[in-house]
Order: sequence, then C-alpha cells, then structure tokens
Amino acid sequence: MSGATVTAALAGATRALAAVSDTARLDAELLMAAALGCTRETMLLARGGAAVPPGFAALIDRRLAHEPIAYILGERDFWTITLAVTPAVLIPRADSETLIEAAIDRFGARAPATVLDLGTGSGALLLAALAQWPQATGTGVDASAAALAVAADNAARLGLAPRARFLHGDWDAACPARFDLLLCNPPYVETDAALPPDVARYEPAAALFAGVDGLDDYRRLAPLLPRMLAPGGVGCVEIGREQAAAVSALFAAAGLGVSVRRDLAGHDRCLIVTG
Ligand code: GLN
Repeated sequence: MSGATVTAALAGATRALAAVSDTARLDAELLMAAALGCTRETMLLARGGAAVPPGFAALIDRRLAHEPIAYILGERDFWTITLAVTPAVLIPRADSETLIEAAIDRFGARAPATVLDLGTGSGALLLAALAQWPQATGTGVDASAAALAVAADNAARLGLAPRARFLHGDWDAACPARFDLLLCNPPYVETDAALPPDVARYEPAAALFAGVDGLDDYRRLAPLLPRMLAPGGVGCVEIGREQAAAVSALFAAAGLGVSVRRDLAGHDRCLIVTG
C-alpha cells in the first residue's frame, strides 16, 4: 500500500474484511486509528490524506485470520467503562449489560453495598457495578489466575482497586460471605456447539463451554446461590437465549425466586434470582 492514502486504504481494507466481518468498515477504521496512534474521530476528520502507516497491513491480516478486534486493540467498552482484554478473558459483550440494567431496575433508588461477580474474567460486570454505585465494594472470583490478573489490572486502571478484591477459586470461593448483588456470566455453551471462528479460535474455552447441554455450571451454581445472597439480595445470572426454562427450573428447585429479563435483541438473557 505504499503511496496510498488513509482514505484509499480504508476502502480497500473494508472490501477485504467483508469476507470475515459484519462490521468491516468499522473494523478497518478502528485498526487504522490504532496504526496511526490517534482516535478514530481524529483520523476521520483530519488524517484522510495522510500516508498509510506501516503497521496497518499487519493489523488487517490479523483480522482476516478472524482475530477479534478487541484482542487486536487490547480493549473493549462495556457499560460506562473501558476494559483491557487479553485472550485470557472472554471479550465483554453488550448482551451482558442486560445484567447491569436488571440490577439497576431492581435496586432503584437503593444501592447494593456489596457486590459479588462469579467468573469475573476481565472484571467487566464487577467493575461496571462498582462504577455504577460509588459506595459499593465488591469481590471478583475466577478459576483462572490469568483472568484475575487482567481483572485486577482493570480495577487499577479505572481507579476502582480500593473497592475491589479478587479471589482465585471455584464458584464457592467467596463463601461464607453474603452479598447484596450477585452477578454471574458463567460458561453456558454446549460442548459441540458450532461457534463463529472469531469465538472458537480465539476466546478461552473455559469461559464458554459447560458440558453437552451447556448447563453444567448452572447445576453447580444452583445449590450455592441461596447461601451467597444477603437478606434482600438479588442475583443477576446470564443465560443463553434458549436456556431460560431449564435454568429457571434448576434455580427454583434450589428454593430461589426466579424471573427472566430479555436483552436488547429480545432474547432471554438474564435470570433475576432472589433468596
Ligand atoms: N454469549 C457468549 C457467546 O455466545 C457465551 C458466553 C458464555 O458462555 N458465558 O459466545
């Protein structure tokens, strides 16, 4: 692309990326801005006639190999915060913001004083909640030490470290403490599900897969959740779009009250549980 302008290179990259991405133009713009070392807005407003920076082609090649934009850029926005992400953690998805919306609706003018995030990964749910409720303190649990390092780094970057602590361990690692708000996006994908290559090749399998029916972790969580909720506490647990009935039954059998909330696409996405 020597001699090419940013504008021309964006058009060419958009055509190429259309083969692997539903958001080819946006991807090209984000990667160009990263290669230029400026914001997308600055690039679009002021750098169209500039020479293509040397690193751009390599970034496009990574995306053509299905690497997710969030891993290439090393960050992803979630709710009101920006999180660093590495391949050690699931990329935060807009779907999961449904859990924060559900919690905000449930608590209304009240605020949870204590928050637990089970399977915190990048720290997305925990840190979004701590950003939302400035008086709250929280605990993030993960079975992956590499994920917890990412989460702790994010807490520090966001100035939330004084209100966050992280525990390495299984679902019950924070017991016997109880919490006002419990957030959890467990693995829930069926072991043999056909996932897009961006997900299957790059995102951590341990954060995705949960047995042949995708319900293994819900079976393990169900008997634990009543012991983790403080009196009046609320749990917001992410589910796959077809899982509301099965997971509601598991949680109801453990004595929990359960209701369902949909995501912006209209799919069942969050179970709201009470003790
Ligand atoms: N929503 C994710 C996906 O479909 C799955 C996340 C999870 O298993 N917790 O890729």
